[in-house]
Amino acid sequence: METYKGYLFDIYHSEQKIYLWIKSDTGELKLFVDEYFPIIYANASPSILKKLVKRFYELDALAEIPSFTEKRLFYQNKTIPVLKLVISKPQLLPRITNKLFNLYGKYDIYHSDIEITTGYMVEKNIYPLAYLTIEYEIPPNKINRIKSVTSLTDINELDYNIPELRAISLYLEKSHRHPFQENTLIVETPKEKYNIPTKNGITLIEKLNLILQKHNPDIILSSFGDQVIFPYLFKTAQECHLTTEFDRDKTSLIRRSIQTQGTSFNTYGTIVFRAPSYPLFGRWHIDSRNSFVYKEAELIGIIELSRISRLPIQKMARASTGKALTYIEVDVALRMNYLVPWQKSALESEKSALQLLNADKGGLVFQADIQNGFVLENVAQLDFSQMYPNIMVKHNISPETINCLCCEDDPNVEKVPSLGYRICAKRKGIVSEALAHIVQRRNHYKEQKRNNHPNLLNIQSKQSSLKWMLVTSFGYLGYRNAKFGKLESHEAVTAFGREKLINAKEVSEEFQYKVVHGITDSIFIQKKDTTPITNEDLTFLCLEIEKRTKIKMEIEGIYSWLCFPPSTQDEKLPVANRYMGRFIDGQFKGRGIITRRKDFPNFIKDAQNKMIQWMCQFKSISEMQKKESEILNLFFYYDQKLTTGNLNWKDLVIQKSTSKEPEDYTVDAPSTIAVKDLLAMGVHVQAGEKIKYIVINQKSDKKGERYLTLERMEQKENPKKQIDDKNVPSNPSLYQNSSPKYKKIEKRIETLEQNSIQNVTENSKINSKINQRTIAKYQIHEPPNQFHIQENIENEAHSITNKINKPNDFTSECSNSPFKFTNQTPKYDQHYYRSLLVKSFKEIWVGISSFKNFEILISNETFLPFAFEKSQNYSKNINKTNSIFIA
Ligand SMILES: [Zn+2]
Repeated sequence: METYKGYLFDIYHSEQKIYLWIKSDTGELKLFVDEYFPIIYANASPSILKKLVKRFYELDALAEIPSFTEKRLFYQNKTIPVLKLVISKPQLLPRITNKLFNLYGKYDIYHSDIEITTGYMVEKNIYPLAYLTIEYEIPPNKINRIKSVTSLTDINELDYNIPELRAISLYLEKSHRHPFQENTLIVETPKEKYNIPTKNGITLIEKLNLILQKHNPDIILSSFGDQVIFPYLFKTAQECHLTTEFDRDKTSLIRRSIQTQGTSFNTYGTIVFRAPSYPLFGRWHIDSRNSFVYKEAELIGIIELSRISRLPIQKMARASTGKALTYIEVDVALRMNYLVPWQKSALESEKSALQLLNADKGGLVFQADIQNGFVLENVAQLDFSQMYPNIMVKHNISPETINCLCCEDDPNVEKVPSLGYRICAKRKGIVSEALAHIVQRRNHYKEQKRNNHPNLLNIQSKQSSLKWMLVTSFGYLGYRNAKFGKLESHEAVTAFGREKLINAKEVSEEFQYKVVHGITDSIFIQKKDTTPITNEDLTFLCLEIEKRTKIKMEIEGIYSWLCFPPSTQDEKLPVANRYMGRFIDGQFKGRGIITRRKDFPNFIKDAQNKMIQWMCQFKSISEMQKKESEILNLFFYYDQKLTTGNLNWKDLVIQKSTSKEPEDYTVDAPSTIAVKDLLAMGVHVQAGEKIKYIVINQKSDKKGERYLTLERMEQKENPKKQIDDKNVPSNPSLYQNSSPKYKKIEKRIETLEQNSIQNVTENSKINSKINQRTIAKYQIHEPPNQFHIQENIENEAHSITNKINKPNDFTSECSNSPFKFTNQTPKYDQHYYRSLLVKSFKEIWVGISSFKNFEILISNETFLPFAFEKSQNYSKNINKTNSIFIA
């Protein structure tokens, strides 16, 4: 008997065999094989059970004679006899499970939908990247056969070693929506970069094989690998009868079916697109575009979740955090000897009931009247630390513990506030048990972060992947079709949450604070005389709140000023969850505002960001109001870019997720038109995929002239590569230096320079038709170097005048390429983008501004109705807007 030690690098199954790749301390990889017969349980009337057993015999799928055994029901907490079936052909399980689902209700079946490799790992008490010792024998000409496997490490370890892993990346040069053969495949190793032409399939595969042999990476990180690259490579290899080096496993005859169609499904109320999956055998393939966890926390986050959920790395990378959570709960349930219930949602349509996952739903809000938006000074924000997960842990909330049958007659059990639901006193709930460990892990990593752990980046990734899991936990709890979900347990959590928020409010008031705003797990408080608050002031308050609620209260920060945007602007977002402010140390915090949103173009986000940066210089509202002209200048600076075309068109691109399949669209929303246009190009965009476009002429009667997709734009840059010209929106005229409007502004600026600035007012009388904003901008007599932005604006004017195309401070951040005023900029809908700019300005400034009609800023008809006078008294306005609160 031989032994081998190392990390469990990869695990997968084929038929009744489980394959394990072990990476030793020296980096050597060895393949082992083991047998595994999963066990499932059935409960039904004897006649149905008979039929079931007969069917399994017909399939030759039983490894043992079925027998009855005693197991405990999860919800009922009752032991019952169930039929134990040991399955000899695990590969049949998914098919059997699907069939059984059709008979749902006639009998109960347990454990049939647990991932086979996970089932194996639970049985052996091992997990991905566990450090193992394996005893094995080597049959002649065969793979090393496992005799025993033992983990030398513990799944609950908080600090663990990860073996050294080599990664390469694989991506396409241009948009993945272009035909593959017209793209270029790029392979990047830590030191080299290969550009591989894709025209000839055979040379492409051969080149890739050489690279893989040379570098032998453990990980291939791709972009669109699942959706585009691997389906193409494997198909080409199959057609040309070539073998590829992608899999390290050359023994197990795993066949891939080539699939390019992904699936779209509904989660948290939005449609998510998931590409088909192309894991490799003996190597990891992680598609950064197809991995929710990867996006949030990178590789180390995947490893963290993979370990604690016992889902293989490549499965975890493609799974939701909810799936990982479910597997952690399954693990707990199996250890407690429960019959693990079936997950109905696995077979449900995308229209799943996850809407109630909207994390704040059911949370209490004390909301100020924010009809017009308002601004406050000297506000502190206090947050309950991981409130919902902590409630689940502290109050033992789990689907089986709420209104349990075992405590029906016990008058002393804990009750849920206001709802009166019973909470089990006899059992520890599996959800609370699972979460207790996750909360503990996260606290540990947060602590390491606070203590400046040498590997801060890894700690941060672990911490944030767990955070996402905890966020998900609350929604899954209420989702009746989740494996461990029940609406009443979800309601119990929010009921406790409301009680705790009310407690926090009461304690704050006892401490003589005014609660100005509260939502779910945060309160915003002010001293009654609105004087500054210090951290010391808050320490006792937090301790007292913790004492009464049993949940830690943390100081999120103290704001010099805090804005709540008006409620009328955007109905889609819950108003209560949108705010922005400056912490006393000058740091900025914003929630839900445009600069934080994915569906606004970079240009607008950048503009808002710069205006916010400007605002963050000031500690008080009145200081800011005195300098209102400066923020107006900033606004006009960006507005002028929009009216002159002095920008990079790529910053105008809007990205939206599609919510439907192309054929399902009926209304003419931008995404509809864009999706249909792409369809005309031969690109089928599935629901949940992202589309990118710019707005050309939103009001045009011809739909084809309203929006232009990025793919169309790229096509225009490469006129040779046009695929189909029939549906191209009529050639958008290009914005050129010679356009009359540009010339006018240019001339006007020259005039401005010739005359002294003081005479501008007079000039404006003469040239009344000229863009008023440009003039207004130069009317302001700020002392030089008042603040740096002012200087840049002046520079900008010079650069336009002198036609110097130099990189600009403001654009360089949102677009990496230096600004070029080329004729590539398409004609875009100025009015549309200027309106967005106004919206982004209004959102952050309306509570402070000396005027209310923001539309007038871009109106071409009238003079600006307000004067930028520093002497104006603004204090009246603040007091008025601040005075109304409903709690
Ligand atoms: Zn009970």
